[in-house]
Amino acid sequence: MARMIPGPSDSLAGRALESFRRASPPTRRLIVAPGSSVARRWRGLPRHGLLLLAAVLLALPVADCTRKPPGKLVVIGLDGASWDLLEPWIQAGDLPNLKAFRDGASWGTMMSVVPYLSPTAWTSAVTGVNPGRHGIFDFQRRLPGQAAIVTETAKSRRSPPIWNLLRGSGKSVAIINIPMTDPPDEVDGVMVAGFPHLDKEGFAYPPELEARCKAMGYILDEMEMKIPDGEEESILAGYRSAREKRWELARQLYSEKEYDLFWVVFTGVDRIQHLYWVFDDPKNPKYDPAKAAKFVGTMRKFWMEQDKILGELFAAIRPGTTVLILSDHGFGPVRHELRVGNWLRSAASGFSSEQANDIFSLDPSDAARLYVRTPGRDPGGASSPAEVRATRDRLSAALLAARNPETGEKPVETVYPAEQVFVGKYAEKGPDLTALPSNGYYLGLGDLPNGFKLPNYGPLSSTVSGWHHMEGVFLLRGPKAAPAGKAMKVYNLLDVAPTCLYLLGRPLPEDFDGKIMETVLAPGLLKKVPPVYKGLLNEEDRPLTPEEQKALKNLPYVG
Ligand SMILES: [Zn+2]
Repeated sequence: MARMIPGPSDSLAGRALESFRRASPPTRRLIVAPGSSVARRWRGLPRHGLLLLAAVLLALPVADCTRKPPGKLVVIGLDGASWDLLEPWIQAGDLPNLKAFRDGASWGTMMSVVPYLSPTAWTSAVTGVNPGRHGIFDFQRRLPGQAAIVTETAKSRRSPPIWNLLRGSGKSVAIINIPMTDPPDEVDGVMVAGFPHLDKEGFAYPPELEARCKAMGYILDEMEMKIPDGEEESILAGYRSAREKRWELARQLYSEKEYDLFWVVFTGVDRIQHLYWVFDDPKNPKYDPAKAAKFVGTMRKFWMEQDKILGELFAAIRPGTTVLILSDHGFGPVRHELRVGNWLRSAASGFSSEQANDIFSLDPSDAARLYVRTPGRDPGGASSPAEVRATRDRLSAALLAARNPETGEKPVETVYPAEQVFVGKYAEKGPDLTALPSNGYYLGLGDLPNGFKLPNYGPLSSTVSGWHHMEGVFLLRGPKAAPAGKAMKVYNLLDVAPTCLYLLGRPLPEDFDGKIMETVLAPGLLKKVPPVYKGLLNEEDRPLTPEEQKALKNLPYVG
């Protein structure tokens, strides 16, 4: 099949690489040894596409590198980016800009947190602490002591994000579309909040920026995610438009001012992977060859377009800038569903209907995060604390023992009790159990409105065909990054905020859960510029107990 994105993007990537090289000769020599295959590839980059390159350069004036000291940081979030998807496309030459960037970057696997949902994951990345301390566990939250479940917002975040740690330090920020940041903070700079949005007002800071977003037709992400029959084209077009507008805004903001921290998240790739995976997956029981003939390769094409945007962004990045690319979780196909609500009410689970009614999830379509009705916390909770605990442990064992009767497959890979994955003052707000499904499985709630009549297993009830997994990506490149190559050490999202703060030359609070990503930094950098630790994230917060300190070290995603 013909490449959708023509050659110019190669040149844009080449321009960006040269820009990095000019910025910091000593480090560049470490990154690309003269005569190396990477260096040869730079020189061999195609010269065509100069017109587009010129247009981009005109639109985005590149700063004079001699005027300002280096040290800026650009963070590019690619929601749901996963090496299992990207690697074959990189090898096939479909993502030339990402490939060229990676060829000069220190890169590897970025483990997500539990649960690996965008609100929880991105909040962990920007705060450097686990959900038990930042307090965001889901898209929804309970109203204390009430049955009501409401949409979660950034107001529930209990640990300061990096842009608040930078306030008053003289470092300016531009923060664009990080999930779970609405309402936005009054930052030293600009901020456009990411979803969920309770309404379409008050999503940007300062207010003039919001007026500007509205005037340019900026599109906010929606919570709803489905692909009704016949709407495949229009939904795809909607995600394309949203991304174009986001990129247009980001491009303008980046070119207008030299921010110390510029952080933009592209979320469209996640949505496309959720909804269009089925067209590339004949193993999915919902695979329709006629439809697949039309929409096969949609994910790849969408990523090729994303790669073109990355190429333009790389070309615009000012000399001396360090660039971190990361995703909040990985991604894979889902084909079968365990309808947890139905299963709980069947003989297979071993629970009575009455007991099953004491188990619930906040999300009506996703039952991977389960709560046992608890007196004092949930209305109607009648069991004693010991009984609640016993129900929880029994549920965990039953989920792990569950088997699809048709195939013998195990739908649940792992179940984490709260105390194993949430550490800190707000741990009790989180789900009692978080289940990680096996490859190809999704944990749905079941047909609650029909009184749970469907079989326990079946194809997905929703139109989703791809879902998250733990293994996301990261790439670090620039004057403060290690020489190019794959990092042996696996990092996790808790390490992002401490690393960014260090790269920005600021002292680190003493109580981040994460650590600086040492092995992907330029050799000797930490010795030359030792990190300074000072103060706490939250002076009014209580310190972690020795047990919590121990639990923190044993978080399953901390290597
Ligand atoms: Zn997602």
